Amino acid sequence: MNTSTSSSPISSGHGATPSLPRIAVLATGGTIAGAAADATNTSGYQAGVVGVDQLLAAVPALSTVARIAPEQIASVDSKDMTLPLWTTLAQRINTLLASDAVDGVVVTHGTDTLEETAYLLHLTVKSDKPVVLTAAMRPASALSADGPLNLLNAVTVAAHVAGHAEAHPAGRGQGVLVAFNNRIHSARDVVKTSTYAVDAFQSPEIGALGWVQDGRVEFQRGVVRAHTLASEFAIGAQWPHVEIVASYAGVSRIAVDALVAAGVRGIVVAGTGNGSIHQALQQALAEAASRGIAVVRSSRVGSGHVMRNGAAADDALGFVSAGSLNPYKARVLLMLALAAGVTEAVALQKVFDTY
Ligand code: ASP
Repeated sequence: MNTSTSSSPISSGHGATPSLPRIAVLATGGTIAGAAADATNTSGYQAGVVGVDQLLAAVPALSTVARIAPEQIASVDSKDMTLPLWTTLAQRINTLLASDAVDGVVVTHGTDTLEETAYLLHLTVKSDKPVVLTAAMRPASALSADGPLNLLNAVTVAAHVAGHAEAHPAGRGQGVLVAFNNRIHSARDVVKTSTYAVDAFQSPEIGALGWVQDGRVEFQRGVVRAHTLASEFAIGAQWPHVEIVASYAGVSRIAVDALVAAGVRGIVVAGTGNGSIHQALQQALAEAASRGIAVVRSSRVGSGHVMRNGAAADDALGFVSAGSLNPYKARVLLMLALAAGVTEAVALQKVFDTY
């Protein structure tokens, strides 16, 4: 993992006019910064090898939208995202947004764990200035690479929100956003739903927040759950150990027993259907919960929500329902809640009902 850090002042500006919003572009790697040996290769490339200055140079139109301050935070394939890098990224964004010299932040990221990073930032950024993540499904070297337009659209969304004080219809105060393939998603709802398609991100059931096209930005709905300035959670250096297990035909309790032996603080279950759990696994998880390990029921289905006391008797077993958070986002919220000292099932359920 390469984690070099460099930055240039906003005023260096890539030729933009002084009245435009000042947007920091934080690059972390991913396919958007990927390169392959030839332009027709969209699967056998190396992620995170193209630097932020090169990414920006591929999009001259950025100078008509914002004054850009680039920073290379890391150069990782986001499948290898780490908890310390999450800490670094969130802290850097909070530092930048606390400054009057920055109007918003765009983060370039890999698509693999983008939904996790976005939700983490949604819960830990302490500002109502825009934070917009973007990515690409095709490497920078590919024919019809999608990264340059996604980057332009992300900066366009950040500049648009930065230029408005009101929530509707301008999108202010909607938390962390993801701009991808012309759509604007909430960090809470967005998930990667395709291994290869350019239209890889969706907000199942609830749909996108809005869209961006040819410099025009439109928000069609707002975000209801708590985030950013209303979030009780803050980024810290401590990450309670939380893992995910799945329920499926013939599953054994071996994984849960191993996690308990390893001293985990929490386990998220990717359950079947309405967060239902195979009886072999459920017995092991009930024992874990009785030892004070937080057990959160989510679903492997990919849309819908998990009803409390639905497929499992949460009250009796000491389990928590993840609601509409998928297992990966539920893990993010559980880590932050445990780090903040929220450990009891009833208090954790309140957290999952709030965020
Ligand atoms: N493996 C890449 C990453 O997540 C995939 C991508 O960016 O599309 O960094």
